[in-house]
Formats: sequence, C-alpha cells, structure tokens
Amino acid sequence: MGGGSDAGRRPTVNVFGAGIAGLTVAHELAERGFVVRVVEQDTCLDRHGRRRIAMGGVARTQYAIARQARPGGAEGPWSARFCRSDVDGMSAVAEARDLRLVPIHVPFARGSHAAPGGEARADVEGRVRALLAYLRGKDVDFRLEITGYADAHDDAPPPGPGLRPLTNPEEHRELCVERAEAARALIAAAAGGAACTIAASGQGERAPRRSDGAAPDHNRWAVVEVCFTVLPGEHGFRFFPSYYNHVFDTMRRIPLLDEDGNESGRTVYDNVVPTPNQGIVSGGLSPLIMPRSPPGSDHERAERLAALRTMGYTAADLTQLMLRVLRYMCTSAGRRAQEMERISWWEYLEGYDPATGARLYHYSERFERDAKTQSRVLASFDAVWGDARTCGNTYVQLFYNWVRTLPKVDGTLSGPTSEAWLDPWRAYLERRLGVQFILGGLERLELEGGEIVPHGFLIRLATGERAEGDDLTARERELIEALRSADYHVVATDACSAEAVTEPLRRAGVAAGVPRDLGGFTTKVRPPPPEEGEGAPRPAAGAGHAFGVTAWDRFQTMSGLQFFFTQELKINNGYVYYSQAPWGLTSINSAQFWRRRPTLERDGFVSLLSIDLCDWNTRAREGAAAGRTAAECGPVGIAEQVFAQIVAEMRPAGAAAEAPIYDPPAPAWFYLDELLEFDERGVFTRARVPYLVPIKADFQSRPGPPPWDPTPRVVSPPPAKAPEAALWQAPHGGYLVHWGKLVFAGVYLKTFTRMSTMEAANESGRHAVNAILDHLRLVKAPAMGAAAGAPGAPATSGVPGGAPAPAPGGGYPGAAPQAARHMRSEVFYRSTPAGDYCAIWDMEHWELPEFALAKQYDAWCLERGLPHPWDLLGIERIPSLVSKLAHSAGAPAGAGPAGADGASLDALLEGTLRMAYPWGGADAVLEMLRGIRKAVEEGSKLA
Ligand SMILES: Cc1cc2nc3c(=O)[nH]c(=O)nc-3n(C[C@H](O)[C@H](O)[C@H](O)COP(=O)(O)OP(=O)(O)OC[C@H]3O[C@@H](n4cnc5c(N)ncnc54)[C@H](O)[C@@H]3O)c2cc1C
Repeated sequence: MGGGSDAGRRPTVNVFGAGIAGLTVAHELAERGFVVRVVEQDTCLDRHGRRRIAMGGVARTQYAIARQARPGGAEGPWSARFCRSDVDGMSAVAEARDLRLVPIHVPFARGSHAAPGGEARADVEGRVRALLAYLRGKDVDFRLEITGYADAHDDAPPPGPGLRPLTNPEEHRELCVERAEAARALIAAAAGGAACTIAASGQGERAPRRSDGAAPDHNRWAVVEVCFTVLPGEHGFRFFPSYYNHVFDTMRRIPLLDEDGNESGRTVYDNVVPTPNQGIVSGGLSPLIMPRSPPGSDHERAERLAALRTMGYTAADLTQLMLRVLRYMCTSAGRRAQEMERISWWEYLEGYDPATGARLYHYSERFERDAKTQSRVLASFDAVWGDARTCGNTYVQLFYNWVRTLPKVDGTLSGPTSEAWLDPWRAYLERRLGVQFILGGLERLELEGGEIVPHGFLIRLATGERAEGDDLTARERELIEALRSADYHVVATDACSAEAVTEPLRRAGVAAGVPRDLGGFTTKVRPPPPEEGEGAPRPAAGAGHAFGVTAWDRFQTMSGLQFFFTQELKINNGYVYYSQAPWGLTSINSAQFWRRRPTLERDGFVSLLSIDLCDWNTRAREGAAAGRTAAECGPVGIAEQVFAQIVAEMRPAGAAAEAPIYDPPAPAWFYLDELLEFDERGVFTRARVPYLVPIKADFQSRPGPPPWDPTPRVVSPPPAKAPEAALWQAPHGGYLVHWGKLVFAGVYLKTFTRMSTMEAANESGRHAVNAILDHLRLVKAPAMGAAAGAPGAPATSGVPGGAPAPAPGGGYPGAAPQAARHMRSEVFYRSTPAGDYCAIWDMEHWELPEFALAKQYDAWCLERGLPHPWDLLGIERIPSLVSKLAHSAGAPAGAGPAGADGASLDALLEGTLRMAYPWGGADAVLEMLRGIRKAVEEGSKLA
C-alpha cells in the first residue's frame, strides 16, 4: 500500500499467533476495515473430539478424553485417573464407525415398542458384544446412548377399524421413548453387566442409514451410539477481576448467537459471572470466607477485620498494611516508576529505604509468612522478589472491590473458556468481520533487500503434516505468497517463540527494537537484582527444571490441574487461596457457575475442582511426594500430592494430621495441562509456555518502549530519544513499527497492566494496533494524516517507514494534566483518519479519585527532588502511634484511643496532613485514615 496507485485498497495484515493478544489485534483491525489473516501453529480438540486449529493460546480449553475409571493402575490408584488430550481415544469413535460397529439399529415392528426377537435379536446381541469387546481394548470411559425414533406418517398401527395414524405429538414422543427403553433392556442383557452406562431417550424422526448402508424406508428404530466422556481441561482456571477493562470491552463486542445463528442480544461479557466470595485457607485455621463486594455497614466492615484477626494477624499488622496501601494510593506514577519498580512488594511493606538499608515497619510472624506467600498463590511470584509497582497496582485494584460497588466483582466464565468465549469470538471474527484463520507457523523473520520477510509453513489439518515443496497445491502457494506480501506483520506469539523467530535478525547483526531486546530474554536467567546484565544461559529442556531456575528468574512454571468428580463437590462460590500449601495452590469449583451444568448421563461428571499450581520449587511436607518439589514429580505424583495438600490445608486447628475433617469425594479423573512436558520416565522436563512474573528492577528489561495512552487529556511523555533507523515510533510514543511493517504484541511486552494476564495480552494487542494506525496515516498513506491535521510531521529517516522526528514536547496541544481523569467511567474515544484508536485504560489512572490531589502533589514534590509528603512529615507514624496507645499500658484489647492522648494525636495527624497537602486533598486521606483506625479498633472488639 504505497499511497499511490493502490490507494483505496484495504491494508492487509498477518497476525502470527491466535492467543488473546493475536485475536485482539485481529478484532480491532478487522473492525477498522483491514484485511486480516491469523496464522496459528497449534491444533487442539473441540468438545466433540474433532481436531481443529487452536484458538486462544494458553487460555483455550484443552479437551481430553477420560480413561475408563478403574480402581487401580500400575502406579497405584491415581494412575488410572490421568487423562490427556489425545486423539487416539477420540478417534476410537471414527474407527468404530469404519468397522461398522456403530451405530447399532434395533428394529421395531410398525406401531410397536416390543424389542425384536429371533434372528433380529441375536444379530443385535452379537453386535453389542463385538462393540464392547472393541471398546474394552481402548481403555476409555464410554456410555452407550440409545435414541428411539418413530415415523409420524408411517408408524401408525396397521390400519384397522378404530385405529388412527400417529398424528398426536404426545403419542409420537411416547413411542420413541418406549422403543429406546426396550432397546436399553435388550442391550443391558446382552452386555451382561459390562461396565458401561446406558442412557435412553426418544427423539422423533430421523432417517438413519441402515447397517448395510442403504437408506431406510421408515424410522422404526432405536439407534445405539457410543459416547465418550470428554473432559474440559484448562491450562489454568480463568480469573476475571473487576478491573479488566480491556478484556471486558472486547467481550462486549462479541455477540452470542442463538441456536439458529441469530444474535441473541447478549454478548460474551454476559458470560462472565460474578464469584461473590473469596476463601482463604491457612493450614490449621478455620477457612475464612470473605465477600468480594464492599461491606454494607460499618459493623460489617469491622466484622471482616475481626475475621482477619482470626487468621492470627494483630491489629498493628492490619493497621500498618492498610497504611502502606493508602500511602501507595497517594503516590504519583512518576515516583512509582522511580522508587517502586526497583524494590520488592515485601520491601515496600517493610518500609525499606534503599538509600540507608533501614527497615521501618514490623509485622507478626504469621502476617509476614502469609504476606510473603500470597502473591505466590495468586500469580506464581515471590513477594520478596516481585516488584512493588506491579504488585501495588494490582492489589490497589483488587482492593477497589471492597470500597466501591462495581458492575462485576471478580468473575469467572459461565462455561469452559472455549465455549463461553473463544468459539463465539472466532465465529464473530470469521463470519462477521471476514478474518481468515490459517493453520501454519512463523519459522523465522529475515531482512531481504531492506524488507522484512516472514518465513513460515502451512499445516494440513487432516494429516497434521506440513505442506511443503513440490507437494504444495496452487491454493497453498498463493497463500504463502500472500503471507509474505502483507502490508503489516504482527508477531503475537509467546515470548519463547518470539525470541526464536527473531534470532536470524540478531545473527545477521541487523536486529533493532523488539527483536534486539528479545535476545536472551527467555534463553538466559537474569542475575539477582539489583544486579543487572545479560545473565547465564538457561538450562536446556530435559536437563532439569528449565524455568524457575532461581527465585528471581523472570520465567517460572505455573500450571493448571483439574479434578473431575462424579459426585457434587463445592468448597466455596468463589476462588479459594490455600496460603500455606507448599505448592502454592488456588482453586475454584468452576462447574457451579456454568450455564449448562454437567450431568452424569450427558457429560460423565457433575463437578470440577480447578486448581492453579503456582509453586514448582518448594518441597512437599507430607505424603508420597514428601521432600520433593512439583518439578521432581510425574503427572500422577503431582495430582496425588495436590489433592493431599488441599485436604491437609482444610484440617481444623489443632487436629492431628491423620484426622482431616474435610473429606471430599475421590476424583474420578484429573487433567494436567498439556503444555507441560514429561520425559519417557514420566519426569517433568519443562513448561512449553513458561509464565512471566514481575521481578524487581526487571520491568524495563521487557522488550520495546513503554505503552502509550491515546485518551484525550492524558499527557504521555514523548519518547526519550528518537528511534533509530529501521524503527518507527509515533511522535507521541507507543509501540514500534520495525522496517515499516513489523509490530509485536504479547504479555511479555510493556503494558500498563504489567502482570502477565489476559488483560495484559489484550492491552498489548491494542497498542500494536494503535501503532499500525499511526504508521498507516503518517507514513504509508500520509495524505490521510495531513487531512486530519494529525500531530507530528511524517518526516521519515530514509528507510522504508523510517522514523519521523518526535514532536517537540510530545502530547497534544491543550492537554490537561493526566490526574484530571481520575474517574472510573468509559474512556473517551479518539478518532484518526485510519480509524479510532483502540481504547486504553492505564490502571494507575483508574484508582480512587479521592486521592487524585494527593498524587498530583506527590508528583510536584518528586519533580523538585523532594521525598513523598508522607515520608517528609512522618505521617505513617502517627496513626500507628494512636493505635499503639489504644492497646498499650494495660488497656484491654479493643479499647478506643486513650482519651486525651488519642484526641491530641488525632489532632496532630489532622494538622500534619493539612501541612502535607497544601493544595487540598488532606480531607480524603484523613477520612480514610480515621476509617481504617476505627474499623481496626471495632474489629479488635469483635475479635
Ligand atoms: C496456570 C495459569 C493460569 C492463568 N490464569 C489466568 C487468569 O485466571 N486470568 C488471566 O487474566 N490470566 C491468566 N493467566 C495468564 C494468561 O492466560 C496469559 O498471560 C495470556 O493468555 C497470554 O496470551 P498471549 O496471547 O500473549 O500468549 P499465548 O496465549 O501464549 O498465545 C500465543 C499463541 O501464538 C501461537 N504461536 C507461538 N509461536 C507461533 C509461531 N511461530 N507461529 C504461529 N503461531 C505461534 C501459540 O500456539 C499461541 O496460540 C494464566 C496463566 C497461567 C500459566
């Protein structure tokens, strides 16, 4: 698209990778009129066991076929419960059809529901036995489904005096069911007690092929089919906290269609259902259930704090924690960048001063232990190494649920991820927006004559083989050519793959921007912070635990594990954190939230416990795996130990290890993430997609420049320096366009969300699209940009799509300070001639508006080299002192602030705060501080 002869042609874009980032790019661009092709290299099974192109990356559902539930196996009772996504089991259905073992037709006489006798009966019995013998060899769990049919026109009893044709729908249905039941009795007798579940139902008319292949002349049958138990496994469960603005915005634009393919008026956003409670289980204490919505009254707030006291925390712990969070909320983005990114969350809680090395605040042993493990069970990182800005931003957003009523509290999906979200997404992209999905992969990127060229391959779905060489069909050749010549290429793969495909550019010495930053990003282990540098080569897969090599390794292993039950099981109606489980566990009983609850007859299971296993380096304390880490166990050992840890964590205080009161039913099956690799001995080798965790002083090592927020009235700082030749960046900053056509998207790039989540993947996809929109209007089709008077002259640096000079000062004329936008509402859309910018929510702008002035003032102090206003005046010390006074000198726990002393300290606090915030804003802070103190004191009375 050169802006000349082909002006008016819709720009074409290849997106490599159909994860959340890639699908977001496709969605946003296709809605803006681009021609989009998504190239994805993985396949997976759908819920009917058919192989298809994988959609959703690690977030997709991994369907697996259940094995035959047997009491024991070679490795003990758990080995028989392990299921994998494996075509062999699924293809058994097709094979049985090829062998003409199914369907089995049980014939009935006209108008009758009496099972056949004589030869016909012997024939059915023989076929049933042959089918069961075949299935037993397959080791898969199966049910026989029998459906009775009747023919409305031709199935009346033989005409005779007083007999009418079968025109009444009730009679018709009844006859179908009776035939199914009769066939069931026949088959049960033929099976002679074989382990199979036989379900029967009536269905009306159908014209089945007869076993000899001939078309039937009537519908007087009961038809027997084999149905396997397909388990909806997942990489890990899907958690949607209320602050997921990007993901929710996308979901609101994906229509849900009814059974006839018409819009139902609902969108995927309606499939995110609230999980009202959160459970915390801490070995030896009663499980604590906390609502995720704000307390309805002061008393309820106090009750919640009292409940937290039962976890063994002191009033001082809670006061200090809330003070630290409050101070964080009064801290400007600039100071967070400068001071918080380089220290850990735990160091922040301790009031660590990097200049002096001093620690200011102390907590009880119990609190310290839980505070350090909480982030581990939340998202696999260590609070001692995880950076304070990423953790602080996330905790502030999670805390929001407790102070504001939001449209959704934490949510989960109303079905397996693929059914509730990804399938409707693909349908919308493909059918409505014309996005083309191609099974194939990107192998490498090369620079050829100054042009960036993707080299890839196509895969044939039917065989799973690559289409290459002379064997290529004309259509495949055309496709490969089209993939090379698109206007833009977006690499939306995981970080490991992104590093691998950009390797030729580094080897050729031409890498710049993201390809250069990716060198060693996944293949080296960074040195311990604050040390910086390249780090040591990562151990190869198979040579031990390849990721999570050290506690400060930015890539850890995190994985999902699901237990499926044939009995009802519900621990809580929300997420449960097992804060002391050695392997860092979180769970949710997903199936309770599903719109279509599983049933034994249809699905083979009724409940499901979905676990995230977040710590692969800590040793188990009890059981067969005692002394071993998850990384040192095989799949069966992992499942057995995880289940044992959950049961042990639920033990009541003081109970002996061998006396758990929590006695869940044994799972019939478990499913372990297929992206985990084990060697032939069953020993874990590596996670194919490791999990990127925040490590202090590491955020800036993420590839590429910082993200850009297009919301009007937000001033984004201009890029620090003009980008090099071969790179293009919009004058206001944002993601890079490499060699005029290559852009990257994915969780491993810099985002405002920071944490590796679907929200970050979606956000990053939006930044990639915004960069393309800017590049298109300013460089590829400059007439577009000029027409709209867009900011920044399209002066290029000589290479195709080269860099324009940054606009002086960046930002937009008349832009107001960013703090003016501290409201939680929709962002304003901003149009460009190439299409609206994708909306971006910088989560630091979406915190409590009450503290906007305090943050602004802190920014002012920072600019002048002054400390945080709280530190300058020792504000945090005063409320701690008030609390201390209330509980000191023999005062009974829970007594209010000690009379005159309390009142004078309170006055001191007020005076100091007014001094600290001369521009205003002190009242909001004061109110929150008093609220905290009151709640803690009231809570202490109730505790
Ligand atoms: C156990 C676990 C639980 C989690 N739970 C949550 C949660 O509850 N909530 C949440 O928000 N986040 C959660 N996450 C994180 C979240 O799922 C991921 O961060 C996010 O989905 C990543 O999306 P992505 O598009 O960047 O990458 P990916 O999902 O990795 O997608 C990349 C895609 O690119 C394809 N690809 C790779 N290489 C190539 C190539 N060369 N050519 C073509 N295609 C290629 C891959 O096959 C894949 O489909 C969890 C993560 C884990 C590990």
